[in-house]
Amino acid sequence: MKKHIALLPGDGIGPEIMAAAKKVITAISEREQIQLTTSEHDIGGSAIDNHGAPLPESTINACEQSDAILLGAVGGPKWADSTLRPEQGLLQIRKHFNLYANLRPVAIFDALLHASPLKESIVTNSDLMIVRELTGGLYFGQPSERRDGGNSVVDSLTYTRQEMVRIIDTAFKTALARSKKLTSVDKANVLESSRMWREIVEEVSQNYPEVDVHHELVDAAAMKLITNPTSFDVIVTENLFGDILSDEASVITGSLGVLPSASLNENDFGLYEPIHGSAPDIAGTNKANPIGMILSVAMMLKYSFGLHEPAKNIEDAVDRVLNDGYVTTDLKIEDATVLSTTEMTEKIISYLK
Ligand code: NAD
Repeated sequence: MKKHIALLPGDGIGPEIMAAAKKVITAISEREQIQLTTSEHDIGGSAIDNHGAPLPESTINACEQSDAILLGAVGGPKWADSTLRPEQGLLQIRKHFNLYANLRPVAIFDALLHASPLKESIVTNSDLMIVRELTGGLYFGQPSERRDGGNSVVDSLTYTRQEMVRIIDTAFKTALARSKKLTSVDKANVLESSRMWREIVEEVSQNYPEVDVHHELVDAAAMKLITNPTSFDVIVTENLFGDILSDEASVITGSLGVLPSASLNENDFGLYEPIHGSAPDIAGTNKANPIGMILSVAMMLKYSFGLHEPAKNIEDAVDRVLNDGYVTTDLKIEDATVLSTTEMTEKIISYLK
């Protein structure tokens, strides 16, 4: 198999964790007899500096020629007062490739149970996947404006049937590949959009009789995520609710640094990135945790290339490195050996089968 990956390191710790991803890609290529090639392109603040735009044409063209995109992180204080925002690069690339399905796995590592702000008895065995609609809803609806000379305001929540069907279908497929349990989150007691969402979940469920689906109101789901996270497996929800719930769920693991994500379109073309930002406070210090980035490589292998075994090889290596007591500075684990970004990357590679 031959695949080309566009690497977009971005800003802050982005280049450091992307260097880690690149080493893992090379190691996997050698071990698994897969030909994975890469090329690097600018996005975010570095693209503003080098090209005068957060998502230059050259980067779009390179991504179009690739089989998947890996992204580090964008943003930082350097561009705080710039009229061009680094984060626009991220929104533009999602829109350009129609990346409507955001997959955020949240699995607690046994070695990190103590790092969670929640009680060990609550988080043990937490392993869930949030499927969030990423390109519609309240964040994109028009009109969105101040009115009456600034005395009133409107934001619009719009979805088409097709936009709901495709993300809900992705969630059923995801549930089918996991424990066949799906929770659909909405606010059907108040919102018309949620009532339509619930109807469509019921309709789509007819195609997936093996999947056990139930509905949860978003307020109840938010409480349950921190009181009983193991009651969830796959969660599907619209853009705004997904944004909030996926960030809430991410704290369960105790570190932003270990979580990957995927944003996919209808052809399973995807952009893969860790969930954290560019961490300007530690950029350039070789302290960044590369695990979220490395697990994003594993998600890419699985979701875009169908390479399940190599993906599992990476996930198992990360798990065993943590179990053997190796961490980066962000993971406050007693008696653990603290490694730099480059040391952690080499350690994970040395644990690959
Ligand atoms: P952040 O995620 O960058 O950092 C929050 C805290 O977590 C910081 O203390 C940071 O040092 C730490 N941290 C994050 N990732 C880490 C890692 N891999 N290893 C160790 N520690 C890590 O969030 P922020 O500080 O709110 O945002 C910084 C910049 O990143 C802003 O410009 C923001 O807009 C941008 N941002 C980008 C993305 C993205 O590219 N997808 C996402 C969120 C924020």
